[in-house]
Amino acid sequence: MPATESVPTPQRVAVIGAGMVGLATAWFLQEQGVQVTVLDRTGVAAGASWGNAGWLTPGITTPLPEPAVLRYGLRAVLSPSSPVYVPPRADARLLRFLAGFARHSTATKWREAMRAYIPMNRRAFQAFDALAAGGVASMTNEAKSFIAAYRTEAERSVLLDELAHIHSAGQEIEFDVLTGAEAREVEPSLSDNVGAAIRLHGQRFINPGEYVHALGESVVARGASLVTGADVVDVRDEGTGVRVITSAGADEHYDAVVLATGTWLGQLGRRFGIRTVVQAGRGYSFSVAIEHVPSGPVYFPAQRVACTPLGDRLRVAGMMEFRSAEAPLDRRRVLAIAEAARPLLRGADLDARVDEWVGSRPCTPDGLPLIGGTRSPRVFAAGGHGMWGITLGPLTGELLAEQIITGRRPTELQPFSPLR
Ligand SMILES: Cc1cc2nc3c(=O)[nH]c(=O)nc-3n(C[C@H](O)[C@H](O)[C@H](O)COP(=O)(O)OP(=O)(O)OC[C@H]3O[C@@H](n4cnc5c(N)ncnc54)[C@H](O)[C@@H]3O)c2cc1C
Repeated sequence: MPATESVPTPQRVAVIGAGMVGLATAWFLQEQGVQVTVLDRTGVAAGASWGNAGWLTPGITTPLPEPAVLRYGLRAVLSPSSPVYVPPRADARLLRFLAGFARHSTATKWREAMRAYIPMNRRAFQAFDALAAGGVASMTNEAKSFIAAYRTEAERSVLLDELAHIHSAGQEIEFDVLTGAEAREVEPSLSDNVGAAIRLHGQRFINPGEYVHALGESVVARGASLVTGADVVDVRDEGTGVRVITSAGADEHYDAVVLATGTWLGQLGRRFGIRTVVQAGRGYSFSVAIEHVPSGPVYFPAQRVACTPLGDRLRVAGMMEFRSAEAPLDRRRVLAIAEAARPLLRGADLDARVDEWVGSRPCTPDGLPLIGGTRSPRVFAAGGHGMWGITLGPLTGELLAEQIITGRRPTELQPFSPLR
């Protein structure tokens, strides 16, 4: 049951989690005059918000469970180098996630979830623009080109079908269909093995680690306390406020709390009625030198590899490993991504990788984030964005701040109740 008790507008709010979602929520709460404390057990962008691909791509922000992903998932059990990996011996929690994920991987469920995403996608860039106008020093980059590249036209038909579905669901996305040679003219970093491509228009990208740090700096400059090394082990609604207790024994009182702990959302959220499993969908990345740095993201959908220009280097990211967020980095996955990208990139030094990284997408079985109130009128959740927490993080923060201050749930957030 959602909270029905009405509480005064909070003046002091703790945000737990200094990733994109937590910091954006803190920033927009400050817009409303709230005194914010951000706590993170490690530091800014310590979770998924650092080494991700940094795409701001509302045009292709779609629910993860869909019929094609299910086929990948099943194949993956048989092949550990496949871009999607499910361990052969899944525990009960993972099995619950996978069963829910499979139930949502139908065309009908996809369309339903897509209807929830579209109003968010429409406003995603405005929230980034508000952050820029409000002084966040890291800029978003227009993707002058955004190429999805394939070996063959047959491979390309999968994304063309998907784009047709996205379009008929009401999501605007403009694109051109290119030959391999045309794609190479736009992006000389593509190899001769690329025989077909799609160029997407109107998308952006960021250097996510740099951006989230700039966001953190802005939150602090606007008066927040940012407490790192604060591992929150308990949150207690005391009727007149909320106590936030850390493993080091710190025990502070706030008017309200936002749980923005990414993949770990369930740990603190369970006692406030959040039953949805948030499962780590682990992805890997590294960066390499490349002769021609692309002028925008390059995507190899058949290999599930996402590349993003970061200054004079290229970040290469991929894999979806459904296993514990705490498991160590598995070097085989890094190699699998490098080998998948090698034949398709020209002039990339894939053997001199730096910043090898693993991070956990916070995935939900229905592919929708958890944003809004909980059973306690003083505890809110913001997370579970899966593949899209960078694109949708700022808008999530803006809309949740509005809900916390006004006590009314914005219509965009209705499908994302953390208590569903
Ligand atoms: C390889 C890869 C590529 C991706 N590419 C994109 C992309 O191109 N575009 C896009 O939109 N998204 C992308 N994503 C997804 C995106 O990275 C995530 O959805 C997003 O970063 C989630 O942000 P968050 O703030 O919810 O969680 P996180 O960034 O994980 O932050 C959660 C924070 O909570 C802290 N924390 C957890 N528990 C506690 C506790 N008990 N006490 C204190 N602190 C705690 C953690 O230390 C962490 O800093 C990608 C992800 C991966 C892995």
